[in-house]
Amino acid sequence: MKIARVAATPLNVPLHIKLAGVDRRTTLSVCLVEVETDSGLTGHGLTAITEEEVIAAIVERVAGPAILSDDPLAHERIWDKLYWTLMPRGQTGYAAHALAAIDVALWDIKGKALGQPVWRLLGGAHPKVPVYATFGFGFFGREQLASVAKLWVSQGFKRLKMTVAGEALRHRDTRPMMDVIREDAARVAAVREAVGPDIELFIDANCNLDLYHATKLVEMIAPCRISFFEEPLTQNDVPGMAQLRRATGMALACGQNEGLAFRFRDLLAAQAIDYAQPNVCITGGFSQCVKIAGMAAAHNVSIANGGAWGFHNMHLQAGVANGTLVEHHYLAVELCRQIYRGLPEPKDGFFTMSEAPGLGFEPDRDAIREIAKLPLSGGRGKG
Ligand SMILES: [Mg+2]
Repeated sequence: MKIARVAATPLNVPLHIKLAGVDRRTTLSVCLVEVETDSGLTGHGLTAITEEEVIAAIVERVAGPAILSDDPLAHERIWDKLYWTLMPRGQTGYAAHALAAIDVALWDIKGKALGQPVWRLLGGAHPKVPVYATFGFGFFGREQLASVAKLWVSQGFKRLKMTVAGEALRHRDTRPMMDVIREDAARVAAVREAVGPDIELFIDANCNLDLYHATKLVEMIAPCRISFFEEPLTQNDVPGMAQLRRATGMALACGQNEGLAFRFRDLLAAQAIDYAQPNVCITGGFSQCVKIAGMAAAHNVSIANGGAWGFHNMHLQAGVANGTLVEHHYLAVELCRQIYRGLPEPKDGFFTMSEAPGLGFEPDRDAIREIAKLPLSGGRGKG
């Protein structure tokens, strides 16, 4: 079997959020990658949190031509070739996103060729994986947030994640950062009060705080019993996170936007995290994420899904023994429902893994053709 064609489709997908009195239209952008083989098998992958047309250009003009006629089952050989083609000095960034989307497509092909789901090829550790719902976005007011939290709990979700920190560090929020985190503390307390003591609650700063304000926020929300704090610090600052963890006892998680494994080596060696969060759609695909999971296991650290795209990432979490949580990110799930067919549904807070070969779901080509006619985001729609 040989790779015959590599295609990328940048998409800026319109989303309509109608929940708890909020009626809001937004967009979220992704780049869908498809790898066709001369045997007729086609695999698909995805990446996001980038400028999607840039990724499409990297895939179609540089990465795709480099692997034409290669054996699609030789994922390690292809990964190594693309690493030296795209990021030969260990650069992390858009090239890692492009490589991730291609690698995910290769694993989809491998599963289809061998008649096995990807999670079984990765080790088949957990036929059932727990899910958490990412529901708590900044556009919800404090009361809306509390009522949306209750809505998710009523739908069977026992684990919830909300964002904190706003965009003060990005100079898009005119409030002083201390005001932002005071409001965050009130929002977290409102959600804890709304859902009661038995629901697990996670928070995510999307790398938007410095060490001082992250420490203050953790002190303010101590009574709310947060299970982990995701991407608390700008740049996933390794010594800063190690210090935050030691000073506060808060469990920390990060890694969804890291491109290469060495960043996880540094986080783990510095005892900066309680959960490593390689994302198969961003962190170099399954081929690299499974190595990061192994590195985490050697440090007795679990992995968890952050950065959305749970339908792809559930295979990693289910495949390896130290896999744990799959993220059900409300906006990303709504996007996937528009561009894929055959997506699984969580039940009572768990996904039961499918036995369908490969990823187990397929692009909806008619829907994608229509969405591809819409304007690209040009820097907006990054969730
Ligand atoms: Mg996140």
